Amino acid sequence: MGMGIEKAIVVGGGIAGLVCARALALRGMKTTLLERKTVMTDEGGIGIGLRSNAMNALAELGLAEQCVSQGVAVEEIRISQFDGTTTASYPPRRYMDTRWPGFTGIGRAALHAILVQGANDAGVIVESGAEVKAVEQGDASVGVIDTRGRRWDSDILIIADGIHSKLRAQIFPNDAVAKPTGEGVWRGLVKGISLKHIELIYGGSVGTVGFTPMRDDVYLYAVDRASNAPPTDVQDLTGRFIQLLAGYSGAVSDLLRHLSRNPRDVSYRRLESVSLTPPWHKGRVLFIGDAAHAGPPTLALGAALGIEDGVVLAQCTAQTGTVGECFALFMDRRYERVRTIVEASIMISSAQMTPGGREQMRLAEAAAEAQLSRSF
Ligand SMILES: Cc1cc2nc3c(=O)[nH]c(=O)nc-3n(C[C@H](O)[C@H](O)[C@H](O)COP(=O)(O)OP(=O)(O)OC[C@H]3O[C@@H](n4cnc5c(N)ncnc54)[C@H](O)[C@@H]3O)c2cc1C
Repeated sequence: MGMGIEKAIVVGGGIAGLVCARALALRGMKTTLLERKTVMTDEGGIGIGLRSNAMNALAELGLAEQCVSQGVAVEEIRISQFDGTTTASYPPRRYMDTRWPGFTGIGRAALHAILVQGANDAGVIVESGAEVKAVEQGDASVGVIDTRGRRWDSDILIIADGIHSKLRAQIFPNDAVAKPTGEGVWRGLVKGISLKHIELIYGGSVGTVGFTPMRDDVYLYAVDRASNAPPTDVQDLTGRFIQLLAGYSGAVSDLLRHLSRNPRDVSYRRLESVSLTPPWHKGRVLFIGDAAHAGPPTLALGAALGIEDGVVLAQCTAQTGTVGECFALFMDRRYERVRTIVEASIMISSAQMTPGGREQMRLAEAAAEAQLSRSF
């Protein structure tokens, strides 16, 4: 570990914050994680896909194995039309370390539990019910104060408080508010179905429909123009979701029959993106994860980038002597890759809403692939 960086505070117990805290603690840093929620839980959203790069990063922290056993190693990606015909099928791509599946489907709650356990096991002090409201930077240290007036001090402060980060607005007041992409996403839990493939369905009345298997359940989603959003006071979101997908045959209609009727298991959310102007640090403070960069989920790489952030930051602390050098090296290694992937995800989102957007989509996917085939 570099001299002068011995203690870290991480704000936010989402995927990015938890991974970063474990990565720092494994390198011997005294690490405290502060999470505003009183119970350590995930942000909802049912399921998530961990692509090859996310698994490689998790493997560096010894967590990949558990993700595979709690999730599903996806064997096939299918592209279909809304009438149920399959137009393409290929295995998910693996980058670099080929021991891990190219795509792992996992429940968000299961992933979160693995990451909380991972932080605890590495010796991270996890404080729930600690909502940070102020940051005080000094020459030799940085302090945070929570809404109950408690204070913590450390050498570096890593902020991973998500896409709607309030601390970002405090530290960079003129920068980066989350912008709507013009799309929204429906998500629903399909119970008791075990699959080994993911599917993306184009060409129907809804922008993109898809599903991802988790271990014993499936997560079904539909990305559509925000102008087709349900009214905010809608009573029966589940019924609306079923109606929206009524014209689809094939796998979607089969899955809909097993859609959970628990109102909590269907949700709708407008999609947003944010790109903090570099550098993402000021003094002893660095932003990572969605707080620094978030695109629409068209490439299924948002969490993956946050996971990479934490692993790379921990490597940088070991390779440098001062906070300034460490954060500069971090930006060198992260900025271009993250920018390319976030821009590609935004481009794909807009191409999905544009007739004849296929070529734009292909270009964006190629740009992201070029980044992914390199090591993070
Ligand atoms: C529909 C959808 C599908 C997606 N699918 C995928 C996918 O398949 N694969 C993928 O890799 N990514 C996917 N993503 C992206 C992924 O969900 C996000 O990138 C990731 O969850 C962001 O994690 P985070 O830790 O940066 O932020 P968050 O998960 O938002 O965590 C922030 C945490 O900080 C806490 N917090 C906030 N303010 C404070 C404060 N002041 N003090 C203390 N704590 C605070 C919050 O309570 C929260 O726990 C998807 C996103 C969406 C919307």
